[in-house]
Amino acid sequence: MKLFKYFSAFIISLLCSGCLAVAPAIEAYQGYNLGKGGVQAAKSLQPIGFEEEKAIGGSLATQVFTRFGGLHPNLELQKYIATLGRAIADVSDRSDIDYYFAVVNSEQPNALATPGGYIFLSVGLLKLIQNEAQLAGILGHEIAHISKRHALQTLERSKKVAGFGSLSISLLGQDPNLFGKVLDQAGEIIFTHGLDKNLEYEADKYGLELAQRLGYRPTGLTEILKILESNIEKNDSVFFSTHPSPTDRLIQLSSVLKNYPENSNLPVLTQEFQSAVEGKL
Ligand SMILES: [Zn+2]
Repeated sequence: MKLFKYFSAFIISLLCSGCLAVAPAIEAYQGYNLGKGGVQAAKSLQPIGFEEEKAIGGSLATQVFTRFGGLHPNLELQKYIATLGRAIADVSDRSDIDYYFAVVNSEQPNALATPGGYIFLSVGLLKLIQNEAQLAGILGHEIAHISKRHALQTLERSKKVAGFGSLSISLLGQDPNLFGKVLDQAGEIIFTHGLDKNLEYEADKYGLELAQRLGYRPTGLTEILKILESNIEKNDSVFFSTHPSPTDRLIQLSSVLKNYPENSNLPVLTQEFQSAVEGKL
């Protein structure tokens, strides 16, 4: 099993500049058509179904490109991130949906996910990452947010608070602004306030597990958190205002890591990461 995991990680690193297209990320940037999903979202009450989730997440994904510098122009880099990201999503507990990965052209270190399977990393964050295990930890954290429906859970709760839950389906159908209101609320959660810190800790714990499932040394996530911790003074990225401090996250993860003592020999793939991003950041 261990051998399989090692090879799966190694093969991913070999294939990374190859086969998977980045087209969906570009499609998302070019404009997400709300279509049926958006209409459904406006008519639906909680819990939020997948069509609605996709419509909300897809609309927010277009905002991500606008807010964070647009799509990074290097397509080889996009393919590398998408290939590794999809491999991690495949070992997640929500592997039945399509995931889209994109590198955005912002120098501020940042990573975020919008509902429905849209995941973004900034080029500034990639510049801080040193190996594939660290990258896998970050991608695992973002996949965890989608897999565990963290933003939706928060939205469903805030809908109750804001009175959305008391509206009937017919009233929602009569209110063309409601989908926009739901989007505003979701955007506030993702871009401004962030999630509850316990959801962030859960994403760290599960993200670390996903990286390890694919065969990476699970300390990749703690390594990149330490790097972020030492860079926090130099940055005013929203990443820091929407997440608990790297120090607090490391404290939470220290007890989680005790569950993985036997995996210290798993690879981190420094050389593979460096050659995949060389000259592209
Ligand atoms: Zn997070």
